[in-house]
Amino acid sequence: MLEDKEPTKTTIDSLGEFALIEHLTKSATVSLPSTILSIGDDAAVLKHHGETVVSTDMLVEGVHFDLAYMPLKHLGYKAVVVNLSDIYAMNAQATQVLVSMAVSNRFTLEAIEEIYAGIHLACKTYGVDLVGGDTTSSKQGLQLSVTALGAVSKTGAVLRSGAVENDLLVVSGDIGGAYMGLQVLVRENEVYKVNPQHKPDLESYSYLVERQLKPEARKDVVQLLQELDLKPTAMIDISDGLSSEIMHLCKQSGVGCRVYENKFPLDPQFISVCEEFKLDSTTIALSGGEDYELLFTIKQEDFDKIKGNPNLTVIGYMTSKGDVPSLVTRAEEVIPLKAQGWKAF
Ligand code: ADP
Ligand code: MG
Repeated sequence: MLEDKEPTKTTIDSLGEFALIEHLTKSATVSLPSTILSIGDDAAVLKHHGETVVSTDMLVEGVHFDLAYMPLKHLGYKAVVVNLSDIYAMNAQATQVLVSMAVSNRFTLEAIEEIYAGIHLACKTYGVDLVGGDTTSSKQGLQLSVTALGAVSKTGAVLRSGAVENDLLVVSGDIGGAYMGLQVLVRENEVYKVNPQHKPDLESYSYLVERQLKPEARKDVVQLLQELDLKPTAMIDISDGLSSEIMHLCKQSGVGCRVYENKFPLDPQFISVCEEFKLDSTTIALSGGEDYELLFTIKQEDFDKIKGNPNLTVIGYMTSKGDVPSLVTRAEEVIPLKAQGWKAF
């Protein structure tokens, strides 16, 4: 995980807006030829050769994150990564980000530096340039808005709407972990509130906690698809939960779907922590959310290209338009998927 520094205290109003921006962005270096002009002017200048995709996401303190268990550096990292995930979900390479921030004077310069350390680390890790943003004060709390841009390769963007009947439904990585990571953190935080001497032992939950606090976007999967010369027919990233993302693909493509409970890629730590919390792993896998994996459909004849790849799992197939998107359980029952709040059966 990312290390947080010991906080010292410099008020932000002692710096002023311009000095603050300069301070936070001085380590933003330009690494891509498509970034012609970066931070410092009224706007950045970019030059992409083909189509550009652009996406934005806003994170509001108390709504999307809680600083009681989200370290500031992780917050900055995650704010960038979740946006890059949307770019990769279009089958594009992420290239630039802009970061806008509203902060209350409760935050010190050192705290904001931590957020930016996470932002810069994510940019470096994914090879994207930070090319601008906006900085303002807020009456209360912290709001972060990230806009990401990406370049679409010659094969074109992949939309949610392209799946057809009989296409295979594929998911990258494993699912449900981020949600169970949050459950672990919430539980530890409750214990801490009662007993501040309590030192959380997160060792045996490390994978799940990391999935929650330091998610990664699947740049590697988009690269792999290029290498395999495989263009998905439709694609989406899993931010809200597998079930609701499947419903989006089905609705926007005008198809139904069957997914198989026994095919879900689940990490062993996820399974054991579900048992510990007495939660049904299938329910959580379907409705947990925040996994930032890619969910996509491919033509059946492309199956050989992904067969045996440990990063990619076929979990079902698309059916005809009138068919309700459904889960086939281990007991071979067929149950309609729900977008949210999946009830254990
Ligand atoms: P303007 O008055 O035109 O909005 P600013 O003083 O807000 O200009 O911004 C100056 C430069 O710094 C611009 O290039 C802007 O994109 C960049 N910038 C401002 N705030 C941020 C931020 N939080 N993160 C990254 N770049 C920023
Ligand atoms: Mg501005």
